[in-house]
Amino acid sequence: MSAQVAAGDRRALARAITLVESARPDHREDALALIAALKSSGKQALRIGLSGTPGVGKSTFIEGFGMHLIAQGLRVAVLAVDPSSTRSGGSILGDKTRMDLLSREKDAFIRPSPSQSHLGGVARRTREAVTLCEAAGFDVVLIETVGVGQSETMVAEMSDLFILLLAPAGGDELQGVKRGIMEIADLILVNKADGDLKAAATRTQADYAGALRLLRKRAQDPDGFPKARIVSALTGLGLEEAWADMQDLAGWRKDHGHWDRRRAAQAVHWFEEAVRMGLLARLTSDPETARAMEALSQQVSDGAVSPDVAAAQLLDTLR
Ligand code: GDP
Repeated sequence: MSAQVAAGDRRALARAITLVESARPDHREDALALIAALKSSGKQALRIGLSGTPGVGKSTFIEGFGMHLIAQGLRVAVLAVDPSSTRSGGSILGDKTRMDLLSREKDAFIRPSPSQSHLGGVARRTREAVTLCEAAGFDVVLIETVGVGQSETMVAEMSDLFILLLAPAGGDELQGVKRGIMEIADLILVNKADGDLKAAATRTQADYAGALRLLRKRAQDPDGFPKARIVSALTGLGLEEAWADMQDLAGWRKDHGHWDRRRAAQAVHWFEEAVRMGLLARLTSDPETARAMEALSQQVSDGAVSPDVAAAQLLDTLR
């Protein structure tokens, strides 16, 4: 399978992602072997995280933006991270029919969010899927999320650039965007800057540009970044400029060592996360420890033991 993925075969890529999504131990082994085999390809895509609330225009944007990239001869993969799909069973992201034109392009690959029981599982699968898309020679990998709970931070931790898509605000209030999200955004795109909404979009863009200027300067940014601009996914306004911004920023970070440093720090972060998750999985898969954990968890819930004392007790049994 690895040769087919490396040759850019989209069906092989889809099968490979299905393999990394599987929780079966034998599949896990095959998945890790596949990823190890593909690691040597050394291909790097531009990984772009994209977040925005439902209805802001993510799929319309990805369709327009993706078609723009394909017209320039680039290959584009879209992966969705949708924590809501784990709860409701219905995903609000990554539905192929949402990106009708793009999904018919041979240079595009679109993959909806897997339904997994926890965000950690989705994180691992998405990282591995990104690696597979890179090995398959995609130039740009878009990782789309709705920004529920921790999903934005998680996506930012696996992206080279992080983009926040917003809708024009009605009044002059900033739309309750969490400060933490502003701090991780490289580019804020105020969408729907067309028709009657254009004036509001322009005002919103100015508000955010002002708010961004108040944030602490980050070492990994050249002058002028993070930046806010208006776009219209519908008319295509600003898409070319947004792409130019992304290339400028990525190029600058590469030239100044920030790109490699960021990827290295992310790799260490995910290594530690994988160890944490693996340890927890091992704990709970051992029946005796699982029982001890359950008993302690009941005591914690009853208020008989404090969480930290209980954790120390459990960890002591492992020595
Ligand atoms: P998502 O839920 O974030 O993926 O949002 P969609 O892409 O499905 O868009 C939600 C709605 O907003 C749809 O009715 C789109 O047609 C509309 N929409 C998306 N982009 C634009 C835009 O640039 N301008 C206008 N006027 N409407 C847009």
